[in-house]
Amino acid sequence: MSTNHNDVLLDVQDLKVHFKLHGGLFGQKQTGTVKAVDGVSFQVRRGETLGLVGESGCGKSTTGLGVLRMVEPTAGKVTLDGIDITALNSAALRKARRRMQMVYQDPFGALDPRMRVLDIIGEPLLIHKMFKDKKDYKAQVHDLLERVGLNPNMADRYPHQFSGGQRQRIGIARALAARPELIICDEPVSALDVSIQAQVINLLEDIQEEFGLTYLFIAHDLAVVRHICDRIMVMYLGHVVEVTDRDALYENPQHPYTQALMSAIPIPDPEEEAKRGFDRSLQGEVPSPLNPPSGCPFHPRCRFAHDACKTQKPRLMETDTGHQVACHLYDPAASDINAGDVMEDNLVRAG
Ligand code: SF4
Repeated sequence: MSTNHNDVLLDVQDLKVHFKLHGGLFGQKQTGTVKAVDGVSFQVRRGETLGLVGESGCGKSTTGLGVLRMVEPTAGKVTLDGIDITALNSAALRKARRRMQMVYQDPFGALDPRMRVLDIIGEPLLIHKMFKDKKDYKAQVHDLLERVGLNPNMADRYPHQFSGGQRQRIGIARALAARPELIICDEPVSALDVSIQAQVINLLEDIQEEFGLTYLFIAHDLAVVRHICDRIMVMYLGHVVEVTDRDALYENPQHPYTQALMSAIPIPDPEEEAKRGFDRSLQGEVPSPLNPPSGCPFHPRCRFAHDACKTQKPRLMETDTGHQVACHLYDPAASDINAGDVMEDNLVRAG
């Protein structure tokens, strides 16, 4: 991890990814719109790891795909190192994609079962013409295999001949082959056994340092995110609700949704668990993005919801240096209810 780099590599402004739903006899009638990502803005500094967390269906994976234009954004601007990715034609986009790669959640589904590992890892070399001759191609693949902790002799094998953890290493080697600056890691360890997760996280940290990589790290597991991320952004129903440094988020989560996510993290020590002193666990399911709640999207599940929350969408505002929260409790202009009063009242009731 590195926090010394202040220059921005990835700048995302007001990104929206909406999917139109069609119905009717010939599917010509638009029956609704799913607002999977609805106005998300953030920056990732060169060399840092920004975590993107939230429950399934909150839009975090779609945000990653929208940044890479693997799904076409409905609106907004994505800039990588000064290049407006959203304005590129397909040839220029293909070229720019070399600089931003993706590591997927399902290491088996992401690898073509009919291809040898040599060809899977080498594919980006072919696409971007990054080798001199056949010997150089093989040497680069062998080197990448070694770099991710696999034996170069395995290059002629097929994906099914590897374990889940090894397959994820192959996926990482494939992403590295293009010599990217940004890697979007979409739940890269959630499909792996807990014992293997730490090894893959350590590998991601090692190669980040060695290759000066920047990560957008998508996960639902807050324990994993805590280990690897410098800053963390919390999403709910297509919106950013909180973003701050890793330690600030864990020591002082401010948004009621973040607090609920935190309270769901098990603490193995019963004494420590008792010290937590409150239960802010989440009630109910994430509402459908097809029919999102009015006002604050979290209000049907929020224990602090008040009248303004049902009609007014909270703005993302800075509450401490570098700590942004979208909640009326922190916005004197939107609510006469004070965050401290409500939280204290809640603690008394919970205690
Ligand atoms: Fe809860 Fe209202 Fe804050 Fe939304 S704006 S998180 S409903 S208190």
